[in-house]
Amino acid sequence: MTDKRALAIATIDRFTAAPLGHFISGKPVAGEGTVFDILEPGTGGVLGQCADATEAQLEAAVAAARDAFPGWAATPAEERRRILNRMADLIVARADEIAAVECLDAGQCWRFMSKAALRGADNFRFFADRAPAAADGQALPAPDHLNYTTRKPIGPVAVITPWNTPFMLSTWKIAPALAAGCTVVHKPAEWSPYSARLLVEIGAEAGLPAGVFNAVNGLGETTGRRLTEHPDIKAIAFVGESSTGSAIMRQGAQTLKRVHFELGGKNPCIVFNDADLDGAVDAAMFMIYSLNGQRCTSSSRLLVQRDIYDTFVTRMAERVKSLKVGDPFDPDTEVGPLIHPRHFAKVASYAGIAAEEGATIAAGGAPVEGTQGFFFQPTLFTNAEQTMRIAREEIFGPVLTAIPFDDEADAIAKANDVDYGLAGYLWTNDLSRALRVSDALDVGMVWVNSENVRHLPTPFGGVKASGIGRDGGDWSFDFYMETKNVALARGTHKTQRLGIK
Ligand code: NAD
Repeated sequence: MTDKRALAIATIDRFTAAPLGHFISGKPVAGEGTVFDILEPGTGGVLGQCADATEAQLEAAVAAARDAFPGWAATPAEERRRILNRMADLIVARADEIAAVECLDAGQCWRFMSKAALRGADNFRFFADRAPAAADGQALPAPDHLNYTTRKPIGPVAVITPWNTPFMLSTWKIAPALAAGCTVVHKPAEWSPYSARLLVEIGAEAGLPAGVFNAVNGLGETTGRRLTEHPDIKAIAFVGESSTGSAIMRQGAQTLKRVHFELGGKNPCIVFNDADLDGAVDAAMFMIYSLNGQRCTSSSRLLVQRDIYDTFVTRMAERVKSLKVGDPFDPDTEVGPLIHPRHFAKVASYAGIAAEEGATIAAGGAPVEGTQGFFFQPTLFTNAEQTMRIAREEIFGPVLTAIPFDDEADAIAKANDVDYGLAGYLWTNDLSRALRVSDALDVGMVWVNSENVRHLPTPFGGVKASGIGRDGGDWSFDFYMETKNVALARGTHKTQRLGIK
């Protein structure tokens, strides 16, 4: 066993004797509901069990968040800032443990997770430092009134997250919610629940009052559904599949929930013939094969100008075949296992679909032999058309579909011809073209001559089936807070006088 795997096993050891339960009102709560296994993607073995929250436990978690809300909302923002920065310090102190747990139960590779845990700390620091100004509004003077706005936290919120980079993604939601003065009930994904327990414990250790941050485990259709239907939950921050987003919108409709959705993607990486092709190959490789291809912003469609298509995809195929696939704890590993046998079956099915549709499997396309883990070979489909399912559906694995295009108009048409609209990547050395194509892409985010490099003050989110709303900077506070306008009369206006004889 590697040292890092031993560290991960030791870290989750205290959660595996009994089914993993919940963390409510500052205390662990034993799991009593239906029990399910947590698998280790790298070995296929069972790490432990987790329990679905019972209705009473879900009620208790929401009640804890509701009761803690007035006190937390009234806590001076400087104090919230202090506690959240302390959470960041504790995350940094435990970054290796957190990263190792992500490798263990999410199958993500160490080389990426060691940075992702620290990104979680950055997310806390970024929003903590903005907490004191979060309530500030605008002055909007009119001739007869001074209007000013203020913001207040919306109330207890639900945060529901997926399994692909569980820790980092949850901090991206939970940090601004807590900084804004909201209380939180977090439901992590059922396939990778351990790092969420570490985060909620870190919150308690940092000094969050009981009930401010709670975590419930369980399945989407039971615990997740009850949470999103609960009248005391005022908003839902959800990251996951587009179809789950639709279900959550229906579930929250009765209680008029505010929703923020970060959903799926089928993001294009467009390479024009005038681009820096070395840079484009590096970025295209990184954006689909890092994080085992389980990345919402992965560039899963490679659109290459026809006159350089063959050369470019040949270079890509060579690189894909050289990727180091294996133990996620090995710092040299570039591609690890998929999260779960069900997801593995979905990803693997696209090799058959590609063959049926007449695409070429230029690399990979099969399970990795000789392992009990859920490893699928890094895969490249070439000679694909935008009409094919492999070009339209989110596969969410280390699988890239390469499609030729003729000119700028064709590139834009193909890039936009999907239900999704999260991110677009564009490679060209023609500045005017970069501006035109960036404008024309139906996506929430564009990177020009770059891979996905995040800057926390910038907006993050998608259009079409990829999401509703934006995270990042002040956009996050806008979601977790209500804006109020106050109009102060200058005493110069005339009120219409009614009822005068
Ligand atoms: P998923 O939608 O199956 O599950 C996400 C979470 O929702 C889990 O915690 C699950 O238990 C819960 N859930 C499921 N059904 C529910 C219901 N009816 N009510 C309430 N909660 C419910 O997604 P996944 O398979 O865990 O994650 C992969 C997906 O996440 C991909 O589509 C990926 O693109 C997307 N994703 C998007 C972003 C983004 O920023 N846009 C980031 C990461 C992942």
